[in-house]
Amino acid sequence: MDTFVQTHETAIRLGFFLGIFAVMALWELLAPCRVLSMSKAVRWLNNLGLVALNTLLLRLLFPAAAVGMAAFTAQHGWGLLNHFPISIWMSVPLAVITMDLVIWLQHVMVHAVPVLWRLHRVHHADLDYDLTTGARFHPIEIILSMLIKFSTIMVLGPPVVAVILFEVILNGMAMFNHANVRLPLPLDQALRWLLVTPDMHRVHHSVEDDEANSNFGFNLSLWDRLFGTYRDQPRGGHQGMTIGIRRYREPRQVSWLPGLLVLPFHGRISGYVINRRQWSTGEETKEK
Ligand SMILES: [Zn+2]
Repeated sequence: MDTFVQTHETAIRLGFFLGIFAVMALWELLAPCRVLSMSKAVRWLNNLGLVALNTLLLRLLFPAAAVGMAAFTAQHGWGLLNHFPISIWMSVPLAVITMDLVIWLQHVMVHAVPVLWRLHRVHHADLDYDLTTGARFHPIEIILSMLIKFSTIMVLGPPVVAVILFEVILNGMAMFNHANVRLPLPLDQALRWLLVTPDMHRVHHSVEDDEANSNFGFNLSLWDRLFGTYRDQPRGGHQGMTIGIRRYREPRQVSWLPGLLVLPFHGRISGYVINRRQWSTGEETKEK
């Protein structure tokens, strides 16, 4: 199985990407959740331009990619899962779930550490929320993500098929849960017990600090529920809420490719998220 998926990796990934992209784009067109605040053509041109740039950069820097790393660790017997005689039916789900936890932790860290937030805010500064938002990340964040993925694979030793499966799921889920669509409420609530839905992740793209620092999950909703970062709905409702970052709302800066590339280098470094809580004087004395 590994050899087949390894040989056809690019075709498999591209096929799923284009298929899911087409379905979600059509869904957004037929039944959009929110009215877009700016030109879709401008946003799509620039968001997808950034995606093309990142794809090219990854191909140049890491031609073997995550799959190559998984094959390498398997050959050398590296990683936890290569150390124990467990069946592929156990190791694949275990690897996919663990990689999902790692990406959840990575997402929390890029919100908490000021320098990393500078990179990640390129993703959050989008003034509208649709399936192309799910793919727009600063090239440096993309490279960092790849290095974290490599380290995870070296330590975990997942089967090659699990790595491809995870990439396909993550890519597909990112397009699904960033889409400008809405599931019927009972279906949304039922699905949320297992997966991240568009309504759940939209809360994370609010301009409100406490809402943006919740619902970090991309695939499983479990991590936010387990670690206490789950938030059901935005205070302003899905139509009334404001998407983006309060300080960055100038289209030239947050919608056009040159602006997006320099956005991390703009402004002074802000404080840690974990230090943002305002302690009252009384509590402060008590703490000491
Ligand atoms: Zn985020």
